[in-house]
Amino acid sequence: MLNKMRLLTPGPTPLPEEVRLAMARDMIHHRKAEFLPVMQDVRAGLKYLFQTSQEVMPLSCSGTGAMAAAVTNLFSPGEKILCVEGGKFGERWGEICDMHGQIPVRMPVEWGQAVDPQAVRAILDADPSITGVCVQASETSTGVLHPVKELAKITKGRDVLLVVDGISAVGISPCPMDAWELDCLLTGSQKGLMLPPGLAFIACSDKAWAKCATVKPANFYFQLQGEREKIAKNQTMFTSSVGLLVGLRESMRLFREFGLENLFRKQWALTMMAREGAAAMGLTLLAPDSFTWGLTAIKMPLGVDGSAVVKAASNDYGVVLAAGQGHMKDQVVRLGHMGHVDFGDVLAGLAAFREAFVASGGYVSCPDCLERAMNAYGQAMKSGPPAHLCA
Ligand SMILES: *Cc1c(COP(=O)(O)O)cnc(C)c1O
Repeated sequence: MLNKMRLLTPGPTPLPEEVRLAMARDMIHHRKAEFLPVMQDVRAGLKYLFQTSQEVMPLSCSGTGAMAAAVTNLFSPGEKILCVEGGKFGERWGEICDMHGQIPVRMPVEWGQAVDPQAVRAILDADPSITGVCVQASETSTGVLHPVKELAKITKGRDVLLVVDGISAVGISPCPMDAWELDCLLTGSQKGLMLPPGLAFIACSDKAWAKCATVKPANFYFQLQGEREKIAKNQTMFTSSVGLLVGLRESMRLFREFGLENLFRKQWALTMMAREGAAAMGLTLLAPDSFTWGLTAIKMPLGVDGSAVVKAASNDYGVVLAAGQGHMKDQVVRLGHMGHVDFGDVLAGLAAFREAFVASGGYVSCPDCLERAMNAYGQAMKSGPPAHLCA
């Protein structure tokens, strides 16, 4: 019987011991003096992580809550918002708009491909009544990295806000909010941040705050202006998620200790390792060109059921992978490599995947695919990520 499960999914992700121990302590009161230094550290840490001078506000909800908070606080009902739909999470923007009365202009993008910034420009040129662009920095359902830096250059000179779901990008791959001039950036706790699910984080640019002041939030619980006033006093509007915030303080400390540059180098190397491993097995990746650094989506050949592979990897090797999403559920296996994971985890993930894949009827020709994956890791650790994806 295996006693160790390796969580190699695109969220939730494994927790460092420091975070777990911090969260094991007894409760403190969120309105008393003891809590203030926790929030003070968390505020500074989140600004470092988002690479912004703006406040980053924690919300007690999963990542989707921050997506809804962004839409309902930055746009009024009736406003037209361009929603980039290249996967399951892209589709969620349109669903949120529909629910709250904003008008989504859905822009379908082939799953596995990144959105073309020039196509976004053309849509905005053709319809000046569009006031927002909502997109994922990393579309977790397909493993695609969207070019948010280029999109920001297009929205910059217009009365259009760029809202970026960075749930599988922040703390995983470069997404510097201020340098790239993103209007709104948000993330969740259970992907790159090495925390349990239950917290989301959101920050707004000056342009977004100016717009926010003109919008009546359509929801009592999510009021970004109110949260902004509270966090200046190291508080949150409603009862703070004390347990998670205490863990977050530790995770932020670990991020600073390791440094974002080292982190991005590691994430890049793990990505190269996973991609080379799958390619050496003769398999095709769902995102061939522009790919995220937190997971690798591997296409299953005809006749191999991805869900069966995921099941076998878990049952026989204790490695928890994720199947595809939406219409690609059984056609894809997603190997997560975000958060508190290292090359040993990815090696275990690739090995378990290979065995499970073969047990599910797949064919692997290459006997040294794990060796090749390790070589790719070593080389990428030396070279570091490509400069054009970092700055
Ligand atoms: C995980 C994820 C979400 C959903 O977050 P929840 O925490 O499940 O609400 C949204 N967008 C992206 C890109 C994600 O990876």
